[in-house]
Amino acid sequence: MLQQLRFNEQFIKSVAHLFFQRILAADAGKNMARNDMILAVDIGGTKTALGLVGSDDRLSADAKIDTVADFGALVDKVYGAADALLRTNGLTWESIGRAGIACPGPLNIPKGLIVNVATTGWKNIPITRLFRERLGRETFLINDCKAAALGEYRFGAGKGCPSMAYMTVSTGIGGALVLDGRLHDGRFGNAGEFGHLTAEENGLPCGCGKRGCLELYASGTAIARVYGEKTGEKRTAKEIGLLARRGDGAASETLTGAAVYLGRAIATVFIVAEPELLVIGGGVSRMYDLMRETVEQTVAAQLPRCYEKMTIRTQALDGNQNLYGAAICAKEGVLH
Ligand SMILES: [Zn+2]
Repeated sequence: MLQQLRFNEQFIKSVAHLFFQRILAADAGKNMARNDMILAVDIGGTKTALGLVGSDDRLSADAKIDTVADFGALVDKVYGAADALLRTNGLTWESIGRAGIACPGPLNIPKGLIVNVATTGWKNIPITRLFRERLGRETFLINDCKAAALGEYRFGAGKGCPSMAYMTVSTGIGGALVLDGRLHDGRFGNAGEFGHLTAEENGLPCGCGKRGCLELYASGTAIARVYGEKTGEKRTAKEIGLLARRGDGAASETLTGAAVYLGRAIATVFIVAEPELLVIGGGVSRMYDLMRETVEQTVAAQLPRCYEKMTIRTQALDGNQNLYGAAICAKEGVLH
């Protein structure tokens, strides 16, 4: 009887100890949340990056893991990788105030949902809630392309510029608008999906449900398709860029064709939003020097005279812009 009592006493003591530890940890978390670290996560089709961004807005440490299709397992993997990243940097979870997650879309930002990511088969995933519960931190969600735009706007090619449009040209084409210092989100977070501007009336069918979308004529995928049609050769956009540098006529022609479509779309963006600057990101931006002249000539021909010449630049941050954007989103509560 006495032994049982003692056991119970011990048990109650340890429960009470745990309880107070939790309260202390929660308090520490709250204090840190005011001005301390953000866990930034960038979910990609094959790799997921994570990083720690401090109150000085510097990315102090980062890591990469493989993206897995089972979303619950991915959340666990991110937690494990973040835990390891904190420990190797001599930090604990108490230093993390918030989390920012960049993810491919379409998303429903107000509901914190992944609507559909075709490549991994994610549909109606409550991403914000899953990460908030696993990490125990307030979690902010942003479309990956918009995260890249925010990163470039604050720390890269758009630094010091009041309004900037961003167009990413890679497998597909995405985009974002930062207007007078604010990311223009749109109703559900899909504003700036420039890849679905109409490039060809009754053109090729697009996965979005309509026809003739820009990304079917000017993305990396489109460049590879057009070159294949011209030559019968299967090449990636990157290889076609290298071929064009070596004087391959079909490769240069293909890039010029894509540049005309891009130029028309960029002129439309300039007319709609009148930003000072448009930043081109994504893999195709690495061969933009081969397309620049055609893009600029097309834009100039398409813009009404009342528009001042606008600047087009390629991305300045190569690789970490999405992590920076996710951190800005969490720090400033953008979109929430
Ligand atoms: Zn489309």
